Amino acid sequence: MARILLLILSRTYRTHDFIEAASRLDIEVVVGSEHRPALAGLMQDRHLRLDFHDAGGSTARIVDFARQHPLNAVVAVDDGGTVLAASASAALGLPHNPVEAVHAARDKAMMRESFQAAGLATPHFTIIGSDEDPALVAGSLRYPSVVKPLDLSGSQGVIKVDDAASFPSVFKRVAAIVAACRPNGDRPALLVEDFIPGEEVAVEALLGDRELEVLAIFDKPDPLNGPFFEETIYVTPSRLDAATQSRIIDTTSRAAAALGLRDGPIHAELRLNADGVWMLEVAARSIGGLCSRTLRFGSGISLEELILRHAARLPLPPHQREGRAAGVMMLPIPTAGRLHAVEGQAEAKQVPGIDGLVITIPPNETLTPLPEGDRYLGFMFARGETPAAVEAELRQAHARLRIVVDA
Ligand code: ADP
Repeated sequence: MARILLLILSRTYRTHDFIEAASRLDIEVVVGSEHRPALAGLMQDRHLRLDFHDAGGSTARIVDFARQHPLNAVVAVDDGGTVLAASASAALGLPHNPVEAVHAARDKAMMRESFQAAGLATPHFTIIGSDEDPALVAGSLRYPSVVKPLDLSGSQGVIKVDDAASFPSVFKRVAAIVAACRPNGDRPALLVEDFIPGEEVAVEALLGDRELEVLAIFDKPDPLNGPFFEETIYVTPSRLDAATQSRIIDTTSRAAAALGLRDGPIHAELRLNADGVWMLEVAARSIGGLCSRTLRFGSGISLEELILRHAARLPLPPHQREGRAAGVMMLPIPTAGRLHAVEGQAEAKQVPGIDGLVITIPPNETLTPLPEGDRYLGFMFARGETPAAVEAELRQAHARLRIVVDA
């Protein structure tokens, strides 16, 4: 029986789907996390407490553990564990991404530098220290631009700024968001880059033997023009023509190579306009939230199953994505306040094609919208004959939800 160490940050949506995939594959899972997971009895004797900020110390713990309990793979379910997964895999002689590559994929400035050096179309950027006076630099920047943290995700703290007059307040707002996310309250530098207009797509792929295997290209039919970049609908297959899709795949492959990534899942975001295919981001992990539930491969295989099979070098059965179109809507948080209820869920689920609705924030919790927030209200899934039908189903179902928020 294969044994896998799953690195799980305390706050992730992905635990359940990975554990379920492992049990379908008869893989023994050991959970590595900073806190003991609140999972039913199952996990209590298979847990390794790790400090994700101390890759050296935690790698040593994992190596020590693996002496008694040999591991076939170390898999990070989210961004926060990718550096440790690479470092522990290297120490254990398991296939892995180079640690520097994973670092570069987690640092947006290093990522921009790598893409630029590889000749990829990527936004022109500047790094500005949080201690610099934004009013002094505002005049020397190009607009519209996007101010963003170097290492957050899910569009948290990403804000478009249209002119020099509004730059200082946006910069201070992003700096405050970043500082609030740091336990020690330090204020790291921020990235300011050109805003690239155009359609956006996401690519889900698996790297192995340096080859990129594309699992899905998602269109994002809602325009993402700022000032905040709340993701909503993802639909696959893409409606873009074959030539454009092949440019998207080529760009993604070059971007992964530029970072030095070579093993495991990647999730990429690109923008398209008359000037070309622009590389925004490549993360060394699979798609976030519960969005992977849109994907089914071969005879009903999940994305998590593919990732675990790949990681443990188990045979990969045929895994073409299913023939039907599929999509997900990340339900945005409409306003700040206390969540009272999400009404209309039964009506939304009755829309033909809707095959799942999960509200991930319980009633009475505080809602914080983007750019300060880091959560979605939930996820709604649909399947249909065409991508257009899936998009329409999601919109129709969303219109039936009433999100009641107490101020
Ligand atoms: P995160 O890792 O937090 O998701 P990203 O850098 O991917 O941060 O930005 C989040 C979203 O913001 C992107 O998916 C895109 O819609 C938008 N965005 C970010 N940078 C740019 C840019 N330079 N031009 C246009 N849109 C951008």
